[in-house]
Amino acid sequence: MNTTNYFSYPAKQKVCILYTLKCSATCSHCIVKSSPYRSEKFELGVAKEIVYQSSINGKKVLILSGGEVFLFYNEILELTRHASQCGLDVWIETNGYWASSIEVTSHRIKKLVDAGLSALFVSYDYFHMPYVPFERISNIMDCACSVNLKCEIMFTPSTNPDEDNRICDTLLARDYPFYKDELLPYGGAREMFQDESPKSFQDISCCCSMTTTFLPDGEVYACCNISSDNSRLRSTPVYLGNAESCAVSELLTRERENKFLDVISQEDTLQKLLERLSEKEILSKNADKLYTICDYCVHIASDATCLQTLAEMK
Ligand code: SF4
Ligand code: SF4
Repeated sequence: MNTTNYFSYPAKQKVCILYTLKCSATCSHCIVKSSPYRSEKFELGVAKEIVYQSSINGKKVLILSGGEVFLFYNEILELTRHASQCGLDVWIETNGYWASSIEVTSHRIKKLVDAGLSALFVSYDYFHMPYVPFERISNIMDCACSVNLKCEIMFTPSTNPDEDNRICDTLLARDYPFYKDELLPYGGAREMFQDESPKSFQDISCCCSMTTTFLPDGEVYACCNISSDNSRLRSTPVYLGNAESCAVSELLTRERENKFLDVISQEDTLQKLLERLSEKEILSKNADKLYTICDYCVHIASDATCLQTLAEMK
């Protein structure tokens, strides 16, 4: 079932806190290269202030992601309660490693639901399989269902289509809702894209997952596609600044007033821009490296001529 609640909020209404880069797993495709050896994480008080400022600056949903946020369960529980009291929907992403029995799973999910959790997204696919037994995913899906909590499996296709099909068949047989995400050529997955064909601009759809993302080092991007190397993104309009040196409300104002983000997140304006850039032959010089909307986005955002063309659009 290729369906998701993940896009049920428009661009600019979602805020994500990458609470930690530490993880119980070391998936080979991991976009941020999380692992048990990473130690970066938020201070709870800093995260709470971001939540509060987000709630009074137009955000409607908080996504808690990582890394693996259940490694800091009590802090996540408190943050969920705080965000819910601030009027935000709260979504959590997890790999499910913690769901060791029905009792443990049920206890943890019930406390989160009581604190205001509105949806749980669980990663499971060929990359995650070595780290989390499928019964733990089942425990989560079954316990979430028993308390009417929205819960979806996030499935990323691998370079092993036979295994992918087997996993999808299992999910379908259990009637578990799942969403087939896209494998992106960033972080650990970059080298898996060497033989991939680039995509022409006519086959590109607008950015539908735009999310303000706060990182443990204070960096803030109007983008959910944060990877282990954000150096290119950092020099584009997608980068909003650093919360250690700039007030969160100011960063969110920069995002609201950002024309680049408006264009990239709407189908009609994005296609209009891409057509203009194609007519001027500005896209063709890097066409062999453009696989996804994110590649187009970063390419356009890093090129002064592209940005000038965008600025001239009505
Ligand atoms: S993909 Fe998810 S579960 Fe795997 S290492 Fe990265 S953060 Fe952890
Ligand atoms: S890189 Fe651009 S297109 Fe990709 S998620 Fe970020 S803002 Fe959207």
